[in-house]
Amino acid sequence: MISLEADVLIVGGGMAGTCAAIAAARSGSQTILVERNGFLGGAATAAAVGQFVGWETEAGRRVIAGLAEEVVARLIDNDGAHGHSRFVMSTGHVMDRVQYNPEILKCVLDSLVAEAGVDLLFHAWQAGAETHGARVYGARFLTKSGEISIRARQFIDATGDLDLLQAVSAPMLRADRDRLQPGTLMFAIGPIDFDRFDAIELEEKGALARRGFEEGALARPALHCSRVPGSDHGWFNVTRVTVDGSDARSLSQAEIEGRRQALAAARYIIDKVPGCENARLSAFAPQLGIRETRRALADHTITVEDLASARRFDDTIACGAYPIDLHKANSGALTIEGFGADHAYCVPLRALIVRDFDNLQVAGRGISATQEAHGALRVMPLAMAMGQAVGTAAAMAAGAGNDPAVRDIDISALRDRLSRAGAIIDPDA
Ligand SMILES: Cc1cc2nc3c(=O)[nH]c(=O)nc-3n(C[C@H](O)[C@H](O)[C@H](O)COP(=O)(O)OP(=O)(O)OC[C@H]3O[C@@H](n4cnc5c(N)ncnc54)[C@H](O)[C@@H]3O)c2cc1C
Repeated sequence: MISLEADVLIVGGGMAGTCAAIAAARSGSQTILVERNGFLGGAATAAAVGQFVGWETEAGRRVIAGLAEEVVARLIDNDGAHGHSRFVMSTGHVMDRVQYNPEILKCVLDSLVAEAGVDLLFHAWQAGAETHGARVYGARFLTKSGEISIRARQFIDATGDLDLLQAVSAPMLRADRDRLQPGTLMFAIGPIDFDRFDAIELEEKGALARRGFEEGALARPALHCSRVPGSDHGWFNVTRVTVDGSDARSLSQAEIEGRRQALAAARYIIDKVPGCENARLSAFAPQLGIRETRRALADHTITVEDLASARRFDDTIACGAYPIDLHKANSGALTIEGFGADHAYCVPLRALIVRDFDNLQVAGRGISATQEAHGALRVMPLAMAMGQAVGTAAAMAAGAGNDPAVRDIDISALRDRLSRAGAIIDPDA
């Protein structure tokens, strides 16, 4: 068996894990990032989500920046994004977003990780882990070279599904299977005449979507599309699959059902939607997008009340403004609940430090939150902001010599570092 060592080990190279790795390596830690795919980005690339949403309040006040904004800047430099814009959701809500090209994003993340000095291991599946008391001390991965074992001082589970927490029997939260948010298989079509597509009145778009839903061609009454910047192709988010993303058999069936729905939806859109007449199906996302599986049980579990009251924490490490966005299981319904025009809320580090463990954090959609609060916190700008924070915190703990528990690091020094790195950690700033 091959054995490796690191200060900080991050499992899962989605937007949260990648930002955690960059932050840890930039803070001077020897950092290993392990990803089961052959590229970074997670749902951003493998599920081709196509847009980062929730950077600012409805009133236009920015609440997320830092490393997340560096990713955007690098995308713009590489013709992979055009910057921040606003759009009207299928529910009628106005939202800010950055549309991006998932293929360019893969290259942008490759370069940011390499420049930071992260040791990257692709095509490696986490297969087990070892603990000693309140500490994780190693994790094992299945690879083409056989099993690789990695020991580290600090661990970050950024798998979204919390596979590392599962392996060490950490406490977790999860909704009943039939209440999990559904998955979505994204698909791309083109060429689209976006001048005509974007000019469809909201009412007409709604009627077309409802008709597609009633005819069984669309799994939800929406025609939501993210344009690939600089191209005449768009990724559609209109399928809806009941799935438990932590169950291998359920996932297998869901991939097939996702493609079935995507093909039917693409045919309907090409046939009926203005601007799409000359389009053809050009791609299915490589993987079904999973919105929700397990959530951590951390030192604090964020509630809707925390978000609605903009509760302040002395260990706030990120802010957010995205509303509660819940896709209902087993129906076409989507509910969006905002908190007010200029409302921003706080994300504390304590919601990312796994309870009963001294050196184990989560980031991204594994955050400790009630299911409703999770509906707001799961978006990608926040995943990147959380990643930057836990990566920096892990590096501080790993570099402290006496191996403190990550919850015992100097929190004001952490906040200071994040602030100097451009992160927004004060909702009133
Ligand atoms: C269909 C859909 C639409 C969405 N729409 C939007 C949107 O418009 N805008 C927005 O901002 N957000 C959106 N979201 C939410 C957002 O995309 C995700 O919540 C976010 O990307 C999660 O990031 P993450 O890094 O926490 O997890 P993930 O992106 O899930 O990354 C986890 C990573 O870990 C890897 N991994 C998992 N298990 C293992 C293992 N055992 N061993 C090794 N590697 C492993 C995976 O391959 C993956 O790369 C959407 C989500 C979905 C599914």
